[in-house]
Formats: sequence, C-alpha cells, structure tokens
Amino acid sequence: MGQKNTDDTKENNAKAPLRWGEFRDPALEKEFYNAEIAKNLNYVKFTILVAGMVYFLFIIPEYFLITAVNDFIAIFITRSVVLAAMLFLYFKVNRDIRYDTLIYWFTALEILISMSFIYISNQFPSPNILIQAFGVMIIILAIFLINNRWRFSIFTSLFIGIGYFVFVAVSFSDINISEFLAAIIHIAIVIFLSSVSSYSVNYYKRIQYLHNIELVKIAETDALTGIYNKAKFNQEYARLADHAKATSLNLAVIMFDIDDFKAINDNFGHLVGDQVLKELTAIVRRNINKTDIFARWGGEEFVIILPNSQLEEAMKVAQRLRMIVSEHQFQTTGQITCSFGVGSFKHDDTLDTLLHRVDERLYRAKKSGKNRVE
Ligand code: GH3
Ligand code: MG
Ligand code: MG
Repeated sequence: MGQKNTDDTKENNAKAPLRWGEFRDPALEKEFYNAEIAKNLNYVKFTILVAGMVYFLFIIPEYFLITAVNDFIAIFITRSVVLAAMLFLYFKVNRDIRYDTLIYWFTALEILISMSFIYISNQFPSPNILIQAFGVMIIILAIFLINNRWRFSIFTSLFIGIGYFVFVAVSFSDINISEFLAAIIHIAIVIFLSSVSSYSVNYYKRIQYLHNIELVKIAETDALTGIYNKAKFNQEYARLADHAKATSLNLAVIMFDIDDFKAINDNFGHLVGDQVLKELTAIVRRNINKTDIFARWGGEEFVIILPNSQLEEAMKVAQRLRMIVSEHQFQTTGQITCSFGVGSFKHDDTLDTLLHRVDERLYRAKKSGKNRVE
C-alpha cells in the first residue's frame, strides 16, 4: 500500500468516508473490494455454485407440475442457461485477478435470474401468487448474499420485485386482490430489511478496513520522523534480499549517523534535537528514489536500502546525501554533518552480516574524522 493512498484515507476519514455503503474515494473502494473478494474467494465461489445448483434443481417439482412438454423444455433450457452463466462466473472468479469488474457480472447474473424467474412463472397452468412470491423473496435474499455494490443489490431486488408484480397484473386474469397486496407488502418488507442489514455489513466492513490500514501504518512507521521503523526495515530487507537472490540484481545498504548529536541535545535541548531529526529525514527523503527503503534504525541512526544497486552507485548516493546535509542550514542549529557506511549484498549474507559490515564502515568513518563516507 502506497504512502499516498493512506494519506488520502486519513483525509477521507476526517469527513464521512462512506456514502451509499461504499467509500467516496473510488480508488479506495476498488482496493477494498479487491481485497475483500480475494479474502473471501472460497465463500464467493461457494455462494455462486450453491445458488446455481439450487436454482437449477427447481426443475424437479416443475417436471411433475408442468404437463405440457414444450413448456417444460422451455423451462429446462431457461434454467440451464442460468446454471451455465453461474458456472461461467464460478470459474471466472477463480482466474480473474482484478475483482472489481466482477460487480458488473454479478449484476448481469442477478438480472438474468430475475428475468428467467418471471419467464418460468408464466409457464405454469394455474399459478399460485403466494408460492411464487416466496420464490421472489428467496431470490432477493440471495441477491443480498452476493458481494455486490449496495446500490446495485437494491436495484436488482427492486427489479425482480416490481417486475414480478407488473407481470402478474398484466398476465394473470383472476388475481386474488388480498393475496396480491399481501405479497407486495411482504416483498417490500423483505427488500427493506435486507437493505438495512446489508448496509450495516457494508459499512462496518469498510470502517474496519480503514482501521486496519491505520494500524498497519502505525505498526511500520517511526512516530517522530514518519519514516519506516526497524520492524518494517527488517521486513522489506527480507523481501528485497530474496529478490536479489532470485535474480542477478544486487542491493546496497547505506547506514548513517549524525555527528556529535549529543552536543546538539546538550546545547539546544531535546526538542531542538527532535526537530533536527525531522528536518534531516525530510531532506534525505526528498533526495532518494521512491523505491528506496528509508528507515530509522534507532536514536539518530538511519538506514537506506537501495534495491537493484551496486556498491559504486550506493557510494555515490551516500556522497551526495553527505554533501546535501552538510550544506543545509538547519533551523536552530545551523550546519550539521553525518557519517556514512555503505555495503552491498553478497549471496551468503544475512541481514546481520551485511549490517555488521556496514556498521564497521560507519565506525571507521567516525574514527577518521566524521562527515565521511566509507
Ligand atoms: P558521534 O558523532 O560519534 O555519533 O557522536 P554523537 O554525539 O552523535 O554520539 P551518539 O551517536 O552515541 O549519540 C546519540 C545521542 O542521540 C544520544 C541520545 O541522547 C540522542 N538521541 C537518540 N535518540 C534521540 C531522539 O529521539 N531525540 C533526541 N533529541 N535525541 C536523541
Ligand atoms: Mg551520532
Ligand atoms: Mg548514534
């Protein structure tokens, strides 16, 4: 997750971050949805498969109820088409990596089911409105079970609800008015209750997602300077070292320590010392690549990982940083300097052996007069 995205999240968090059961920020919504589906892939697939099977199995009672062969064949084909569409989606969920397009497939599928239901309802010789209304309710419940946008779920459930009753009013000649009204009211209530419960599920899932982003950020950030902390550094190093081993690309590490920082604290106080740390990290951040990993190793000691870099390049970067820092006028303290140790990854290196080497060089830089790169 990028730094920018989490900053946006915080901004959105200050206002109401959600509207209509989804994030206002479309990029965040997309990110959430993809993570959500990826996390619940098995559940999503299971729901699709079971819903498809159950929908198809209604062919069994129909076999006994529909006596006209042509009507039965038409129903059989309709149910088979829906089953095929659901199986298609079942396998698509398997392979698709960008899940946010699934929303449109889900919606299309729900509309297809709704239309096939209304079509099949029309094939019955003596239809019973109440029994068919139960069918509509079950489809509505299934629609809210499928992981769609809240607004789309409401739309498709209204589509089948209203569609069914319009169809009944138009096609059935002798409707029992009280049954008809009872069915309408019950289905309206089912849609309302499903919407409310679905809204709260959508809402709380997203709020929790925001909290998780915040927690991850706090867990990997140094509170004073806002750069990565040691834990995150270790994690990133492991990832990049694996990458370096797998490819022939190298990686280099720069470690630096502020020269005579104790004197700054002693002369100006700890608060000014803290200010220097913040100013220094801001300068360094501006002058390294976005892909470099910059972390506070502890106190006033920092580390940078340069992915895909050789020792010579890292030496140049360190020299450049040394110069930029030494020429900068810090707010209260004026000029300060840093000493640097640089090393590159060797194939049998662990983090400890590599850092030990770099640390020794940093120590040597201090010994040979500070404000140096070794
Ligand atoms: P050298 O040039 O050899 O590095 O000398 P130095 O004075 O910088 O020595 P050292 O690196 O041992 O100094 C560490 C000092 O940094 C001691 C400690 O009080 C101070 N320090 C560590 N963390 C913080 C912090 O978060 N804020 C402030 N203000 N000071 C810190
Ligand atoms: Mg120091
Ligand atoms: Mg130190």
